[in-house]
Amino acid sequence: MGNEVLIDIHNHSNLSSDGSDEPMDMAARAYELGVSHFALTDHIELDEFGDGEWDYRAAIDKSRPTFERLRDEFDGRMKIYYGAEIGQPLYDLPTAEEILAEHDYDFVLGSVHRTEHYEHMSRIPDTEFDRRRVLSEYFDEMLKLVEWGRFCSLAHITFLMRFVSIDTPSGLVTDKDKRCNAVFEVYRPIIDKILETIVKKDIALEVNSSGYRRGLGEPMAGAAFIKRYRELGGRMITVGSDAHQTCDVAADIPESLALLRELGFNEVCVFEKREPRFIKID
Ligand SMILES: [Zn+2]
Ligand SMILES: [Zn+2]
Repeated sequence: MGNEVLIDIHNHSNLSSDGSDEPMDMAARAYELGVSHFALTDHIELDEFGDGEWDYRAAIDKSRPTFERLRDEFDGRMKIYYGAEIGQPLYDLPTAEEILAEHDYDFVLGSVHRTEHYEHMSRIPDTEFDRRRVLSEYFDEMLKLVEWGRFCSLAHITFLMRFVSIDTPSGLVTDKDKRCNAVFEVYRPIIDKILETIVKKDIALEVNSSGYRRGLGEPMAGAAFIKRYRELGGRMITVGSDAHQTCDVAADIPESLALLRELGFNEVCVFEKREPRFIKID
């Protein structure tokens, strides 16, 4: 793993409400670690876009000049992409469409961070009713997200498993590092539909290394999901750390790439002007 290519195209700076650090510091850290492809993908959460708690318009306006500054600074040394992470676009489709039309992003992640009845994933009541309802809402909303499909890569497909135990025919699975496999078995039909849809639409599957930091024991998507995506013909994978602070930039990316190699992938994707480019990882 010594000279391998490092890619991290999912990061949040202080242009995200939950990010704390300067864009330039995060990029400098990436460069220092040997990253050769880097993107900031600051949040655009459409369910809370107009509520006034965070000025999304101002942050979005700053993201283009910020990208240009990084691109110029690292010119010839580290490739920088103009990115964004669009959360819950279906909660305000006209605004989502308008933002995408007005900004020539290289790379757009599509995400589900909440569901209809559960605004904060960290506050889901631990009852069987709520566990089942949030999981079914989560995958239903994700299927609608990929059917809309105006983004490059489906972010952290197992994000919810950080927060919820899984009811299975053989009992409740509470261990964090067993939840992703359990959910894959129980929700297989709709997971298949989601994966089939992204394969058909040439949307990439993100392998988000923060799953390791969050105790899942694997990235999000993890092995079962990545394998199934590949079986269904999927070949487009993006990788990112989802760092919200400089110290997490590129964290666990080598482990994520090793897992991908184990599962038969010898290249991953980056996007330029929303077109995929394949980068060898073997
Ligand atoms: Zn996210
Ligand atoms: Zn993110």
